[in-house]
Amino acid sequence: MTDTAPPVRLRPEIVSLPAYKQGRPAAPDAFKLSSNENPFPPHPAVLAAIRDLDINRYPDATALVVRERLAARHGVTPDEIIVGAGSVALLAQLISAAAGTGDEVVYAWRSFEAYPGLVTVAGATSVRVPLTPDARHDLPAMAAAVTDRTRAIIVCTPNNPTGPIVTAAEFAAFMATVPADRLVILDEAYAEFVDDPAAVDGATLVRRFPNLVILRTFSKAYGLAGLRVGYAIGPTAVLDAARSTAIPLAVTAAAQHAVLAAMDVEDELLARVRELAARRDAVQAALREQGWELPVSQGNFVWLPTGPATAAAGEAFAAAGIVARVFPPEGIRISIGEAESVETLVRVAAEVVRTL
Ligand code: PMP
Repeated sequence: MTDTAPPVRLRPEIVSLPAYKQGRPAAPDAFKLSSNENPFPPHPAVLAAIRDLDINRYPDATALVVRERLAARHGVTPDEIIVGAGSVALLAQLISAAAGTGDEVVYAWRSFEAYPGLVTVAGATSVRVPLTPDARHDLPAMAAAVTDRTRAIIVCTPNNPTGPIVTAAEFAAFMATVPADRLVILDEAYAEFVDDPAAVDGATLVRRFPNLVILRTFSKAYGLAGLRVGYAIGPTAVLDAARSTAIPLAVTAAAQHAVLAAMDVEDELLARVRELAARRDAVQAALREQGWELPVSQGNFVWLPTGPATAAAGEAFAAAGIVARVFPPEGIRISIGEAESVETLVRVAAEVVRTL
């Protein structure tokens, strides 16, 4: 990063746009709980699948075999699936396909920190609708924020970084209010960690709405964050536009092979997910006993509403060997990681809650 003015003419809104920040790197002996990653080591079958690839050749540009596999799972055709270099790439493709200069994109705030930048890059304007006091999406307010200029609405469930789900009933009411010619993106990056039966499940909504695209990722539950692969399910004509805004060949051969191998051992990977979800619930129960008032997280992370004490609380966790993601002055998001991290997390949280 430099403070020097660029030597060539660039878009001013891009020059002033901060780059995506990853959170501070963890010391070798610290727990890295700042990026909602899967703490389990890669599955041997996945490692084997990426070992002997012809990396002198380009990958399949449309990830057809992966799409066929996902299409069979979701009861759609491969044209109703798009695979991207992480679901964040698909968000970028979908936003740029729908919204440009003068258009608006509505999303809840606080939510996934990539949304504002992607909207700005597309040339569009963000309309941020505050979460409710209990850190949930305010879907009626989001529907009310839709104007003639709205081209996309992003709903994140469970919400990163606060954790609550959107219920199926809330989402149905929302879809009934939003004009059917506006794109709704249901970002379900943490879907596999959800066990609340009231939660909306995008997989059950496939083909129900002409304006709905469901976004999933292999980064979290399937532990492939480093390979960058996610997918979307939606109407072919909408996804075709997102195919046009893609960077060609961005989904690597390694990513495609790894996904197929991960789906082969899915039962084992999803057993790990259930273990992490149980750990999440145990952590939340322990923190509530300490007096924390937590929103109910259904992701692989917990949200501590530390308010003005957020920076100091982040330092306290870091000093104890836990790297968390701080969002001053709102709160701290801590990923559910290794079993060995839990004791430290709970101990430091007990100290921090007394300072609030
Ligand atoms: N959506 C949400 C809500 C997320 O939290 C993340 C990752 N932090 C993503 C999308 C992007 O994930 P990826 O690009 O790794 O698929």
